Amino acid sequence: ALQCGIVGLPNVGKSTLFNCLSNAKAQSANFPFCTIEPNVGVITVPDERLNKLAEIEHPQRVIPTTVEIVDIAGLVKGASKGEGLGNKFLANIRETDAILHVLRCFDDDNIVHVDGSVDPVRDKEIIDMELQIKDLETVDSRIAKVQKQAQTGGDKQAKIAYEVLCKYKEALEQGKSARTVSFETKEEERVAHDLFLLTNKPVLYVCNVDEASAVSGNKYVEAVREAVKEENAEILVVAAKIESEIAELETYDERQMFLQEIGLEESGVNRLIKSAYKLLNLQTFLTAGPDEVRAWTFHKGWKAPQCAGVIHTDFEKGFIRAEVIKYDDYISYGSEAAVKEAGKMSVEGKEYIVQDGDIMHFRFNV
Ligand code: GDP
Repeated sequence: ALQCGIVGLPNVGKSTLFNCLSNAKAQSANFPFCTIEPNVGVITVPDERLNKLAEIEHPQRVIPTTVEIVDIAGLVKGASKGEGLGNKFLANIRETDAILHVLRCFDDDNIVHVDGSVDPVRDKEIIDMELQIKDLETVDSRIAKVQKQAQTGGDKQAKIAYEVLCKYKEALEQGKSARTVSFETKEEERVAHDLFLLTNKPVLYVCNVDEASAVSGNKYVEAVREAVKEENAEILVVAAKIESEIAELETYDERQMFLQEIGLEESGVNRLIKSAYKLLNLQTFLTAGPDEVRAWTFHKGWKAPQCAGVIHTDFEKGFIRAEVIKYDDYISYGSEAAVKEAGKMSVEGKEYIVQDGDIMHFRFNV
């Protein structure tokens, strides 16, 4: 399953955010949030289209797609040297697909800041530096392995690897994250990807603000925005504490009312899940029928057989064709039969690149 890791210094609001996510009432009663381990939760990806399709199909089940969230506590200054939970923490990050980096952007004299004052940009740099040190270790040990081959022999692969590594080394030594480095060729990109560097993972900065700044942000958020400009990363403003209280309310209407009271249309949690999904370059295709209306996750750019494989490997192996209905057509014609009658269902082959919101029906040999 796809996994997002929540990182940040102590007392910035990581567990508050995690609780908020874990309390977020699941869209479907059939798939409630569940906690696998104390710090791992599965959360459903909110998708209005599922509800709309369910109104048409009245299926027995509605199944949203999910993302796993891991609260990775324990990163402190010196973690790369094994301080605190140091290395265990870093190993946990390595397994995630994306990072949610929580930054404290709220004042509260009662809540101690590990470094004595509220300064999200400094905090971000502390965490980044720990991750960069670890990446530099990885890069240096790889360089030691390929350097000789690259410089003496005619080993093309070693040469490419060496160049990629040197580019990373230079950036990391300047205090830049791996994700700021770009490559020209597909081969370089592949080598780069296979290093699984911590600072190469997509990141979403979550600015944790107080209630009053939930909508407009504050000076801390502005400082973060300025600091990450070069990274081309997304920033999300969330008031985790108040939202964790709102998330505990029983009904949707109650939660909506309280959200509106603090000026929000949609909960930060919902926005966060959606952003994380986008961050991971993920899209959703749907299946719809009387038994089940369901959302499935795939990587942007995947072709029909690969998407069929998300449902079952047999679907991919025996793929014959896909019948595709565009979501908007499904809604405007009001049923699958009506869509077919209007000639709006298309039949696609192996090369079809599935689009977000496609309603798919796969035909396959067994
Ligand atoms: P963690 O160490 O990063 O997991 O931080 P916690 O989530 O445990 O939060 C540390 C403390 O800050 C807790 O007492 C929270 O209630 C409090 N806290 C979290 N978010 C906010 C916020 O937006 N405003 C205020 N005033 N307190 C917050």
